[in-house]
Amino acid sequence: MYEKEKQQLIDCAREMQRYGLVVLSGGNVSMRMPCGNFLVTPSAMSYDTMTTDDIVLIDAQGNTVEGFRRPTSDKDAILYVFAHRPDIQVILHTHQPYATAVSLVCDELPATLVTIIDEVHSAVKVAPFTPSSDEGMGIATVEYAGDALAVILKHHGVMAYGKNIDQALTAAVYLEEASKTYLAAMSTGRSIPELSERQIAEESAERGYYGQP
Ligand SMILES: [Zn+2]
Repeated sequence: MYEKEKQQLIDCAREMQRYGLVVLSGGNVSMRMPCGNFLVTPSAMSYDTMTTDDIVLIDAQGNTVEGFRRPTSDKDAILYVFAHRPDIQVILHTHQPYATAVSLVCDELPATLVTIIDEVHSAVKVAPFTPSSDEGMGIATVEYAGDALAVILKHHGVMAYGKNIDQALTAAVYLEEASKTYLAAMSTGRSIPELSERQIAEESAERGYYGQP
């Protein structure tokens, strides 16, 4: 069941590795399915050797519907987000280092770069620490999400999400790039200008050109 989508989860996890958002078996990928259940990556397994048989289908209570692996240990947090944000179809959890570094020194990654506005939709808030593998991660994500497609979890990593894998992965990758740029600017010790509301509105306006028709 859902072979194509299971492969998409694995491909996404490998892209997360390729972009340096996770190492080894860190993080996870999950997807809401039309039947009301959720595909999730398994706990602590290498993405390099993962096959579609390793992906687990769970219900909204976290019970396994299909699959023989133990699902990601963050399933309670993931299910909380899916339950409270019906618009979200895909959630990525990463330990991406630059965004996580921002969490140690800032309360948010401000909207200082066009890529944050275009691909993450707004400044990204840092949620207070909650233990990993705890529903609190999901509660904090919903509380701090705002209009953004990601939340940074203090001392931990990132929850990025969207209407599909492409949107969630793009948000996570651009969040990482922007975090790197922001930290580089901060390291100079100079003050960092933010974009004005008018500039953000101009950047957000539909221009109808970017991308392929
Ligand atoms: Zn984690």
